[in-house]
Amino acid sequence: MRIGNGFDIHRLVPGRPLVLGGVEIQYECGLEGHSDGDAVAHAIADSILGAAGLGDIGLWFPSDDEFYRGVNSIELLKKVVKSAKEHGYKIGNVDCVIICERPRLSPHYPAMRKVLAEALEVTEDRVSLKARTMERLGAIGRGEAIAVECVVLLD
Ligand code: MG
Repeated sequence: MRIGNGFDIHRLVPGRPLVLGGVEIQYECGLEGHSDGDAVAHAIADSILGAAGLGDIGLWFPSDDEFYRGVNSIELLKKVVKSAKEHGYKIGNVDCVIICERPRLSPHYPAMRKVLAEALEVTEDRVSLKARTMERLGAIGRGEAIAVECVVLLD
C-alpha cells in the first residue's frame, strides 16, 4: 500500500465557470487557471502521483504548455490514473476536503462522486468529499479562493 497527499488552491474570479470534481456549478465566479481550474481534480491527481512516486502535476502538465489551455482536468486525472496503473497501482480510496466559503457544495457531491469514481476506476463509496468553510477568515474566508486537500491510498 502507498499513501499520497495533494493540495491545490485557485483564485475565484468573475467570468469563469466554476468546475469542481468535473461538475460545473452555478456560481457568480469560477476558478482561475490555465486548465479549467478544477482544484479537486488537481489535488487528487497530485495525491496519486505522490503516492506512486511519479512527481507532480506541474511536471506532468506544465502551465506554459498551450496544449493544456482550458483542458478538462478530469482528462488529466484519467492520464494520471492510467500511469499509476501501468506502475502496478490501483486506487484504494480518496478522501478530499474542499475549503470553500461559498457556494454550498454538498448538493453537488453525488454528481462529483460519480464523475470522480469513473475517472479513478473505483466505486463511488471509495470517493469521499467533504467541504468546510474558513469561518470567514483570510482569503478563502473572503471568498477569493477555493482550496482542496486530498489523501489517497493506492494498493
Ligand atoms: Mg491547480
